[in-house]
Amino acid sequence: MARSVDAWQGKTDDTPVPPRVRLRVWDREAGKCHRCRRDIPVGDAWIIEHRHALVLGGPNAEPNLCLTCSWCKPLKDAEDQAAKSETARVRSKHLGIQPQPSMRSQGFRKAGPQNKATKPRTPKFEGDIMARRTT
Ligand SMILES: [Zn+2]
Repeated sequence: MARSVDAWQGKTDDTPVPPRVRLRVWDREAGKCHRCRRDIPVGDAWIIEHRHALVLGGPNAEPNLCLTCSWCKPLKDAEDQAAKSETARVRSKHLGIQPQPSMRSQGFRKAGPQNKATKPRTPKFEGDIMARRTT
């Protein structure tokens, strides 16, 4: 019977996962990708990944680690990035931080000179006004 060991905990978020912990995670997950549940063949590329991403507040600890095959890594990275962006956007809005517009509009055009009561009105058309004929 194997001796029980304490779960590994990284000192910081940047602490790399040691090989012995990578092996324990492989055994725990039975060599399956946590997303597609595909058996990762020997020699195929795989990575240790955080189930709950570090950028989203997940711990750098052994229970949070899982295997991800090379097919699923880009998908998980995109999902984590989208979640992080959404969180940052909502948080900024909550704190009242407005993003600077990349382009400003021209605004309203300047109005022409205003007609004054002392200035005669200029006719908008030529000719006389006649009553409409009704037959
Ligand atoms: Zn996968």
